[in-house]
Amino acid sequence: MTSEPWIGDAATNDHGGCRYALNEFAAAEDIRRCGAPATVHIMSESAMHGLVSLASCEKHADIARAAGAYVGEHRFGPNCAGVETVFGADGCDVVAESGGAA
Ligand SMILES: [Zn+2]
Ligand SMILES: [Zn+2]
Repeated sequence: MTSEPWIGDAATNDHGGCRYALNEFAAAEDIRRCGAPATVHIMSESAMHGLVSLASCEKHADIARAAGAYVGEHRFGPNCAGVETVFGADGCDVVAESGGAA
């Protein structure tokens, strides 16, 4: 048993649904998600996973905020479900596909 709040895996390539796991101790493939439209995009930092991006509905936002060291949040927007995005205070920005030098 863990006493830490747990919301599910990181929503790196999700399409906007709340990632809150309704049955957190199930095997990964059996986990049922809240699935409600995500309204908040929360970034938190976990000792185990590093920076974790969490899509959450209003109801589960407090749990997402408590899931790790709180970094920041913004309203969930169309870019938030993207992979090549950078988390910002006002929303996620798509990373330009420049392919240039790092
Ligand atoms: Zn939810
Ligand atoms: Zn975002």
